[in-house]
Amino acid sequence: MAKKDEDNVKTDSKNAKKLPKTEQEWKRALTPEQYRIMRGKGTELPFCGLFGNEKRDGFYRCAACGAELFASKTKFESHTGWPSFFQPISGNAVKFIEDSALGIKRTEVACAKCGGHLGHVFNDGPPPSGLRYCINSISLEFAEKRRMP
Ligand code: FE
Repeated sequence: MAKKDEDNVKTDSKNAKKLPKTEQEWKRALTPEQYRIMRGKGTELPFCGLFGNEKRDGFYRCAACGAELFASKTKFESHTGWPSFFQPISGNAVKFIEDSALGIKRTEVACAKCGGHLGHVFNDGPPPSGLRYCINSISLEFAEKRRMP
């Protein structure tokens, strides 16, 4: 029974169906580094490799729940060391949380579906939005095609 539950958590989080509910389940579903960043609002080191130079056409999903978050056509080179986008894939894909953790006011960006921490949004981005979504690459997974509804 316990084994079966564990399998369900893994399968379902991958297929974007059932979300883990407890922190224990999240710990099992994510790598330690993903857990630290996505559930603990951490930040990965810049230039840590994932997606910095990713130029393929496609879509970026939440690494925790599989929800589609950003399209590659909105990705731009910000020279910050984190993958950067000027807008999310839809108005309700992400949610915003006021964050004053470091004594500065910033706006946290989280996955609207699972609440996983993604990064922050700043107002020094390029047109058309003028916004820069600065996202931890470990919170994302790349897919060449959109998920079918
Ligand atoms: Fe998510």
